[in-house]
Amino acid sequence: MTQPVNLPQETRPQGDILIVDDIAENLEYLSKILNGQGHKVRAVLDGHSALKVAKSARPDLILLDVKMPELDGFEVCQRLKAEPQTRDIPVIFLSALDQTQDKVNGFTIGGVDYVAKPFQAEELLARVNTHLSLRFAQAQVQRLNAELEQRVIQRTAQLEREIGDRLKAQEELLHFITHNPLTNLPNRAFLMQRLGQIFNQMQSREQSSLVLMIVECKHLQLVNNSLGYSAGDQLVVAIVRRLQTALPPTAFLAHFSNDTFAILMENCDDLSAAIALTKVIHNEAVLPFDIADKSLYITFRMGIVQRSASDGKPKYLLRDANTALAQARKKGAAKVQIFNPAMYHRALHFFEIQNELNVAIAQQNLTLVYQPLQSLDKRAVTGLEALVRWHHPVRGVISPSEFISIAEETGLIIALDRYVLRRACIQLCQWQAEGLINGEFRLHVNLSSQQLSQPDFIDYLDQILHDSKANCCNLTLEITEEGLMQEDQTVLQILQQLKQRCIHVSIDDFGTGYSSLSYLQRLKVENLKIDRSFISPNLDGFNDGEDNPAIVRAIIDLAHGLGMTVTAEGVETLARWEQLKALGCDFAQGYLLGRPTSDFRQLFQAAGVNLPTN
Ligand code: C2E
Ligand code: CA
Ligand code: CA
Repeated sequence: MTQPVNLPQETRPQGDILIVDDIAENLEYLSKILNGQGHKVRAVLDGHSALKVAKSARPDLILLDVKMPELDGFEVCQRLKAEPQTRDIPVIFLSALDQTQDKVNGFTIGGVDYVAKPFQAEELLARVNTHLSLRFAQAQVQRLNAELEQRVIQRTAQLEREIGDRLKAQEELLHFITHNPLTNLPNRAFLMQRLGQIFNQMQSREQSSLVLMIVECKHLQLVNNSLGYSAGDQLVVAIVRRLQTALPPTAFLAHFSNDTFAILMENCDDLSAAIALTKVIHNEAVLPFDIADKSLYITFRMGIVQRSASDGKPKYLLRDANTALAQARKKGAAKVQIFNPAMYHRALHFFEIQNELNVAIAQQNLTLVYQPLQSLDKRAVTGLEALVRWHHPVRGVISPSEFISIAEETGLIIALDRYVLRRACIQLCQWQAEGLINGEFRLHVNLSSQQLSQPDFIDYLDQILHDSKANCCNLTLEITEEGLMQEDQTVLQILQQLKQRCIHVSIDDFGTGYSSLSYLQRLKVENLKIDRSFISPNLDGFNDGEDNPAIVRAIIDLAHGLGMTVTAEGVETLARWEQLKALGCDFAQGYLLGRPTSDFRQLFQAAGVNLPTN
């Protein structure tokens, strides 16, 4: 055996090496060269000690002599490989046996190398180094793997937690967007989803038909406004409790908005069951709700629609239930309305008119026609009433009776009236400039009652008068009885301001509203127009053959008593004209005297007013 050669430090792994050899000199020699390389060395003389030390100290490498008494090297190796604690320790056999079969045996039972004695120290050290390096590299890989595994476990646990959190957040979000936050009831989005499922089931005949009710609570907004939102919220929760008591277990209750609920009854072929339910719901509203030390009363209004598989989509169901509800609203408090298709067509018509009228006002597709007003004693035209006409691109000329009520309901009447007033004043100024009219002449323009509650009405009127340069002393505004009855102070102020501008006011359609006499007295307006329902033939109040109709006489006397002149509208026959004259009526208007026309020159001619002959 030769002296050990020092390998460069950086290439030398230093390990804990167990040497097993029954010859003490061999152990000594091996210890020396291995120690010389910086390895820690344990040496044992027999196989039993080797197994013991290997198990307790777990060296990095074992140099194992093959030929030993009792347990030879192969036997020791086999036992090491059989034990989990020692299985991984690399074993290098050292042996004088250097037959190939010996080496094969050594490798077969798990040795990593086989060094034949006598050996060169360099060779042995080189092999030791190689196997130590391998061993350390393996250990490193094992450690890294273990670390990696640990990290994977930790990260997996973390991800599982995160996914759990996200799923929970998602569920909460889904609940939030499909439920009402106050009552925790399903909201409209949820109901639409449910309806979608039901419609699918109905198509595959798993369900027959269904009933949807939209329930609206009147007065809830009033509670919010007067007692505050907290009381309003308490009331909503209490209402829900009552509704839940009233509903059969199979009904589905949804909460749309503050005061609106929906009740869905599946497999409901019998509308009478739904109607019976509305009665139960109404009964629930009869008892007061004790909220904020007050007893509060509410009423429900309901729109009902029934559908079967063939009838379209969920959104139409909701639309139709709402259309029915809108009708119920018109009926007043505590009303129920069942949808029918005519309602939908009406609603559609309403919507179309609203949209198209909006365009018509903007594009100035409205014109004015004029109808004469005559004084009964002088038989002379004393004024004209301006009446609007809509030139519809498809339907031709449309009469106001078809669109004025829609304009009023939608607020479009404000813009419409202002447009008409502007056109009428421009026309008036022209007549004035042409000398067609005298100081007595009155141009009547209709004004919706809504105009009176516009804070800028008088400013707007002044602007029109300024722009048109019309002399407003020839102007009369016709305002309906109910318009003049609203918020008295404001109306009285506006009337005062009109008087200051010498604009007259006529109470239009008189007799159709509920004017109180004392109120009429306070208004101090110049003229009163008896509604044509009292004048036209075969209508209440003025039957042919009766020469002194009580109502008309009473109105004329009353108006005169209050200093007003009286106009009768809807005069169609000479007989009526004569009756009115006999009753002392001042002015008349109607088809007898002239239909509304855009040919106002003809009207002036009829009035005998001097027309320039150009
Ligand atoms: P109103 O103010 O009572 O106008 C009289 C309506 O009765 C006119 O209908 C006129 O054509 C009609 N009429 C006139 N003489 C007779 C008659 O002898 N017999 C019958 N049966 N009817 C007669 P029109 O032009 O269709 O207007 C209907 C309503 O529309 C008006 O009723 C008025 O309330 C409203 N209106 C018309 N133009 C305007 C406007 O510019 N602004 C506002 N706010 N409402 C308007
Ligand atoms: Ca009128
Ligand atoms: Ca009228």
